[in-house]
Parts: sequence; C-alpha cells; structure tokens
Amino acid sequence: MSTRAKPALYRKLPSVDELARVPELAALVAEEGPSAVTDAARVVLSRLRHEISHGVLDSDSQLELALSGLAGSVARQLRHDLRYSLRPVINATGVILHTNLGRAPIAASALEHIRESAAAYSNLEFDLESGERGKRDVHVDRLFRRLLDHVSEHIGTATPAAQPSQASQPRPAISTIVVNNNAAAVLLALNTLAEGGEVIVSRGELVEIGGSFRIPDVMAKSNAILREVGTTNRTRIADYERAISEKTQLLLRVHRSNFQITGFTQQPSVEELVGLARKRNVPLVEDLGSGALFDLRSIGVSDEPGVLDSLRAGVDVVTYSGDKLLGGPQAGLLSGRADLIAGMRANSLFRALRVDKLTYAALEATLLAYVKRDHDAIPALRMMRLSKEEIGKRAEAIAERIGTEKLSVTAIDGESVIGGGAAPSAVLRTRLLAVTCKDLSADELAARLRASDPPIIARVDEGRVLLDLRTVFPDQDDVVAWALGRLAEN
Ligand SMILES: *Cc1c(COP(=O)(O)O)cnc(C)c1O
Repeated sequence: MSTRAKPALYRKLPSVDELARVPELAALVAEEGPSAVTDAARVVLSRLRHEISHGVLDSDSQLELALSGLAGSVARQLRHDLRYSLRPVINATGVILHTNLGRAPIAASALEHIRESAAAYSNLEFDLESGERGKRDVHVDRLFRRLLDHVSEHIGTATPAAQPSQASQPRPAISTIVVNNNAAAVLLALNTLAEGGEVIVSRGELVEIGGSFRIPDVMAKSNAILREVGTTNRTRIADYERAISEKTQLLLRVHRSNFQITGFTQQPSVEELVGLARKRNVPLVEDLGSGALFDLRSIGVSDEPGVLDSLRAGVDVVTYSGDKLLGGPQAGLLSGRADLIAGMRANSLFRALRVDKLTYAALEATLLAYVKRDHDAIPALRMMRLSKEEIGKRAEAIAERIGTEKLSVTAIDGESVIGGGAAPSAVLRTRLLAVTCKDLSADELAARLRASDPPIIARVDEGRVLLDLRTVFPDQDDVVAWALGRLAEN
C-alpha cells in the first residue's frame, strides 16, 4: 500500500457544507435542523484531518474507506451530540429510594398533572373566584389538611391530663408549606424560630445525612446557636431541661436516618420532649427526614416514625422530604402549628427557597393518591408493598429464559432496603437474580449491564451480580432479560 502525500489526501476531503448537504443526510437535516448536522460534519471532518496529519490515514484506499462511511459517521456524531446527559436507568439495586438514582420515581398521575399544568398557564398564584392574586401553597395545603387534620387536636395544646384547662381551647389547624428540599425546610425552621437564640439538640443527633447536610452547619447558616446536650450514646430529658434558659428558642429532634446507635443507649421519647417543651413554653421541631404519610407497619417496618405519629404526639413542627417515603417530587415539607408555619411563610428566606409549578403539580397529584388511599399509584409505595412471592415469580421467569453454559442466572433469597435514610435497619424480604459468567468478573458483568441501553444498575456481592426486581418496573423485565440474553451470547 503506497503512502500518499498529506496535501493530496486533504484535497480529497469534502468541505463541511458539501458533507452536510449529501442526500444521505437529508432526513437528518429535516429532523434535527441544518446547523446541528453542520456542527456534526465539522467534528467528523476535523477528526479525519487529525488522522491524516498524524499518519493514521496515509493511503488513498484507507481514505476512500473512511469517505464511504462519512454520512454514517456524521449521523453517529449527531446522535452523540444531541443525546441527553440525564438519562433513564433501570434500578435493579433493590434500594427503593436511591439518592444517586433520583430517589422516588413519581406517579403517572403526577407526570400527567405536570404536563397539563406546566405546558400552559395555570392558576398557580391566581384566585379564580376573586380574580385576584392568590397563594401558591393553597394547592397542596388543602390536601395536607385532609391528610393531617385529624391530629390537630393534639397539637399546640398540652395533653389533657397535663393541662386540663387548655383542653377546651379551639383546635389550632395544621398548615403545611413547601420548599426546595428538607435541608431547606430545616434551615427555614431554624432561621424563623431561633435566629440569634439557642437551639437545644442531643449530641446523639448531630448528624451528617450526606451531600454535606450537617446539622451543626445548617444551624450556623440559620444564625441559631447550637446548644449540645447529653452524649453521643445517651441523652436524658433532664439534660434538655438543665440546658433551657432565657436564650432557648427551640428544641430540635433529628431523625438519625442513615445509622443506628445500639448498645448502651438512651434517648427521651417524643412524648417526654413534648411535655418539656410545653412546660417551658418553647417550640419543639422534629426533622423526620423521610416522613412517611402511610403506616409503615403495614409492610412490617415498625421503628420508623411517621408524620402523623409525631404530630399526634404533639411535636409543633415536623420537616420531611417530598421524594423519600412520601414518594413524590423533590421538596421539603414543613407541617405543624399554623401560627409557627405562618411565621415561616413570612420569612424572606421562604421566597428564596420556594418551589415552582412543576413541583406543586407533582405533589398535588401524589397527595391526591393518598387522599384516595390509592397507595399503589405511587411507585415507591407499590415497590415497598410487593411480596417476595410476586418478585420471585418474575425473577424465576427471567432465570428460566436466560441460563446458558456460559452465563448462570438463578433466583435466590435476599433483602431489599428502603433507602433515603428511612428505617436504616429495616429490610424487605425479596428474591434476587444472581448472575455469574464464565469469562467475566462480577465487576465486568456489572459494567456491561451499565453500558446497555437503558443502563441497568445492579449490585455486586461475593463475586456475583445481584439484580433485585423489586425496584425494576414490571414492564422493564423484558429489557433486563434481553440484556442478560446478550451477555449470554457474547
Ligand atoms: C434526607 C434527610 C435530610 C435532607 O433531606 P433532603 O430532602 O435531601 O434535603 C435532612 N434530614 C434528615 C434527617 C434526612 O434523613
């Protein structure tokens, strides 16, 4: 093969415009627009020039070959350029609220409500009756009231036994406002209720949640002064009591979320904290983190306090995420005593932390599913409620289809976790697909699955790849089977 002088090779290249106008690319031009195709042609040609100048392409025949596939190269380049970076993946990890995979998938009704109310104008802040400006929180506050109001008799007044004189006071309503995420909710609560004053927190609850949410840092940003009490493993109600002074603005309780303290431990009950807060007339705020609106005991998880449990016990304000156990969009919710919530709404920080119409739409649809008790409409809840037997049937159907000499696919017992900092110790029994391959390591297998389209994210454990169908939507089972089938072939 004779090599050619570089100038002669360069001369054979078409111009960017010539290339972008070849008939094979006409359909792409019509679909994606001429400028995107021209940009892709420019990238492809400059790559060829680079290959010529570095002697990678140094003969007529090599160049002819490259030129014959030029339209295809431009099309591939274009697809690569225009591909979304944010892509759907199949979550086969069995972690239902996986922060790295976008936490809760939203309900179909939430998606539909986003589409209908965000693609056009809406009454987001417009009162249709009066024709005047309205408040954006009314859309979800009314639903939160329906879900939470039957606890309002417990809130803002002491337990009747402790202070009978207050039992006859009118029931203060529970209000809810929405901010960007729970980190913002905690910041807003601390800044509104305790700026310049002290907040008492147990040393066992000075947690870091991940993504650099650390209680002492949030406290500092809110301009409240952290007053630590107790020790890492043991804090008594008397520790809180001793720390209360005229500087105290707030008692804060924080859900430990992603870890547990076991052994020689002590922590006052919510009821004890409520009693103390009432006696000394300081509000009690609880950062619940996950904040379930449905009874987790129904799926066998007993140690995770729900929003209703805390409000019923008399906590003044709870904060929780929209995209953890609630199963909705990313949001931070503050529910509690109407007078305290009104103060937070009036804080200028609230304006900076407010959410947009997409979030309200998704939240409203999700809450409506709760009102209708249609828990299966919320994907995260449906996944939690799946039985091991249902998952096992699907796993076995795939295992039967795929196993080969080279790729072993078997269904085995295992455990799924809720994730999102909820019930760190709780596990749900499941059936897993355990996959091993003769000539690939488990890590290489997992990488192959990640490289398929859509990417499949699995766990690697003891030399096997484990896929948990609890977090795989049933209509994705075929895609998983297809991807495994391809691994079995080559
Ligand atoms: C998850 C969590 C947060 C942070 O919530 P985001 O909605 O992710 O901002 C704060 N506190 C606790 C206890 C949590 O579990």
